[in-house]
Amino acid sequence: MRTSMSEFPILHLRGPVLLGPEHELLEAWVVEGRIRHERPELPAGSEVLEVDGYVVPGLADLHCHLGIGDGGGGATLEAARQQALTDRDTGVLLIRDAGSIIDTSPLQQQDDLPRLIRCGRHLARTRRYLIGYADEVEPEDLPAAVAREAGRADGWVKLVGDWIDRAAGDLTPCWDAEDFHAAARAAHGAGARITTHTFDEDTLPLVLDAGFDCLEHATGLTHETIARTAEAKIPVVTTLVNVGEFESYARQGERKFPDYAAHMRRLHAARYDRTRDAHDAGVQLLVGTDAGGVLGHGIIHDELDELARAGLDASAILDAAAWAPRRFLDVPGLEDGAPADLLVLPRDPRRDHTALRELDHVVLGGRIVT
Ligand SMILES: [Zn+2]
Repeated sequence: MRTSMSEFPILHLRGPVLLGPEHELLEAWVVEGRIRHERPELPAGSEVLEVDGYVVPGLADLHCHLGIGDGGGGATLEAARQQALTDRDTGVLLIRDAGSIIDTSPLQQQDDLPRLIRCGRHLARTRRYLIGYADEVEPEDLPAAVAREAGRADGWVKLVGDWIDRAAGDLTPCWDAEDFHAAARAAHGAGARITTHTFDEDTLPLVLDAGFDCLEHATGLTHETIARTAEAKIPVVTTLVNVGEFESYARQGERKFPDYAAHMRRLHAARYDRTRDAHDAGVQLLVGTDAGGVLGHGIIHDELDELARAGLDASAILDAAAWAPRRFLDVPGLEDGAPADLLVLPRDPRRDHTALRELDHVVLGGRIVT
């Protein structure tokens, strides 16, 4: 491999370079870690690495957990780093972490890791979430907790909106309408956006009324709430691999909580139809794996396969995995001057999403890392 004398190689991407669902360039360059759409002026004798293949922005995982160990519990920072490297090597170069037990902000200084946007610690109602994951609060303390996490995170706060209610024996919202409103006000007042973990049908009208900015899992979407979500232009982070585990949750709860088990099975059975209905209604789907904790890292391609099973075509999958998350998080893609966080593929991923598994190169910040 020929590289320039500088720290960064100069790359000539011989394309096509896919700028978005409808736009492509025949070629582009990477100089000093940034994308250039025009051939740059280079000093005589500069060494340029010629790179052939389809170029797309690095994939984004909008919902995973760095720093939660396998089976739950806080991981070490080094273990969180290994999780991020595992994701990177599958082509994930942008992560919105949906809640971590440890402070992963030191990873943001490590330039060989994906770009990381943190949600801070999950917020949940007392005894209404997985033990040990969340900061558990009661309604009177919720706005202050949201404001605190907004101050610690990177513009995002996550609230667990529903979970099994053991007294009711089923999923129910963890908060009432005014609590959701107060949480959204606190996040927005602190300059952050707020998202919610939600499985239950009844939670969605409450968080839509309250002005939440994003929905995680959203297995309880109905015709009415799909229409409202589309109208409000609120994206849904899919996590279908995680929803695939609902049968095991149902089995675990079956004896003590038969209504809950039946509910989880209904949500599981409807997962592909609901996902496709939301997409068809114009809801922006964003890819999230929910890796970390129950599921291991490095599973984004399994999530993309799930979207294909739900009936999305390859272009829609690529949009949900690469372009739309960057628009939503205000992170550049392959624009002129953007940091060169990109993948080089041997085949056109707009025709077949499985081309995204066939990475010739992963380029992060202008360096070829894989
Ligand atoms: Zn999660």
